[in-house]
Amino acid sequence: MLNIALFGPPGAGKGTQSEFLIKKYNLFYISTGDLLRKELASETKLGMQAKDIIAKGGLVSDEIIVQIIEKTIKTNSDANGFLFDGFPRTYIQAYILEGLMIKLNSSLDALISIEVSEEESVKRLLNRAETSGRSDDNETVIKNRLKEYKEKTLPVLNFYKEKGNFIAVNGMQPIEKVTEDIDKIISDLLSKKLLNIVMFGHPGSGRGSLGKALAEKYNLEFVATGAMLDEEIKKGSKIGKKIQSLYESGQLVPDEIVIPLIEKKIKNSEDVRGYIFKGFPRTLVQSYILDGLLKKYDSYIAKIFEIKVDTLELIRRLDKRSKTDAAMPYDSSTEKIVKRLQEHEDKTVPVIEKYKETHDVSVIDGTPPFGKVLETISKEIEKSFKNLK
Ligand code: AMP
Repeated sequence: MLNIALFGPPGAGKGTQSEFLIKKYNLFYISTGDLLRKELASETKLGMQAKDIIAKGGLVSDEIIVQIIEKTIKTNSDANGFLFDGFPRTYIQAYILEGLMIKLNSSLDALISIEVSEEESVKRLLNRAETSGRSDDNETVIKNRLKEYKEKTLPVLNFYKEKGNFIAVNGMQPIEKVTEDIDKIISDLLSKKLLNIVMFGHPGSGRGSLGKALAEKYNLEFVATGAMLDEEIKKGSKIGKKIQSLYESGQLVPDEIVIPLIEKKIKNSEDVRGYIFKGFPRTLVQSYILDGLLKKYDSYIAKIFEIKVDTLELIRRLDKRSKTDAAMPYDSSTEKIVKRLQEHEDKTVPVIEKYKETHDVSVIDGTPPFGKVLETISKEIEKSFKNLK
C-alpha cells in the first residue's frame, strides 16, 4: 500500500495534483472537502451538521471527519493505497490518521506539502471562484479559511516533521513542474518501500519453488526458515548443533532460535526490494512476531498468497519428491507425509484465517503447471504493486 497526504493552504493545487497521482499510482482519492460537499448535497445528517461551518470557512469537527473518512476507507480497504486531500487538517486529525492506518496494517508514507504564499493562495481562490460554483470561494470566507489554516492546520506539519515523513514542494512553480517534483518524491519512496510477501500452502503445494522464483524475479530476499536451520546445521555452528540435537529428539525448534536467525538475515540483506517468507509464520504466535519484527523496520506484510492444491495431489507430489534429491525428511513415508499435512491443518491454517481478516490474502490454485501458477501470482503482485516493479 502507498498512502500519501497532500498538504497545503486552500488553492495550493492539491486537487489538481491529485488527478495525476491517482491515475499514475492507482490510488484511492479521499478529499474530505468533496466528501463533505457530497453529504451536503444529499442533505444527510452529517451534511446538515457541517453546513454552516463550511459556509463560514471554519473547520468541521473531528467527529464528523472521522465518520466520513472511516466509512470511505472501510469500503475501499482493498485499494492500492490512499491519497488524502484536505486531511489531516488538525493536529488531532494527524493522530486519527495514524489510528486508521494501523487498522489497515499500513502507514502514511509521506505528507507532501505544496507550499505557496498567502497572496498567491488568495489570488488563485478568487480566480477559481469564477468557475468553481463553490459558495465558500468568496473573499470573506477565503480570509477565514486561511485564518483557520494558519491557526489549526499549519501545526500538523510539526507532527510529520517530528515523525520524519514530511516533504515540501515549491507550489509556486508551473503545474507540470510541481507534478514532476511530486512524482519524483513518490517514485523515490516506492523504491525504498519493502515489498514483503508471505507464501502459505501445504507442503508440496509449490510455495517454496514459487517463492524462490518470485524472489528472483522481483529482487526479493527469500526467507525460508527450514533451509536456514539446515544451513546452520551444515555450518556446524553452535546454534546448528543445538538444532541438530532438537531434530534428533524429534522436538520443534523454539522461536528463540528461529527469530534471531530471521532478524540476522533481514539486517544483513542490502538493496533488497523486500522479503518473501516461506515456512514462517507457522503458528499464531509467530504471526505476531513477524508483524512486530517488520514494524521494527517500519515495514509490514504487503501481500499474502495461499497456494491451494488438493490432498491427493499433494500426497502424489510429496511421494514423487521423496525419490529425488529435493526430498525432505518428512517425505519418506506416507505416514510422515500425512502427519506433516495434519500439522499444517492444525497450526498454520488458523494463521491464514487470522490474516484473512486483516490482510489482502490471495488464494491461488496451485494445480496448474508451475509456469502457469507463477504467472498468475506475478500478475497479482503487479496488480497490487503497480509501478513497484
Ligand atoms: P476543501 O475542499 O478541502 O477546501 O474543504 C472545504 C471545507 O470543508 C473546508 O473549508 C472545511 O470547512 C471543510 N473540511 C474539509 N476537510 C476538512 C477536515 N479535514 N477537517 C475539518 N474540516 C474540513
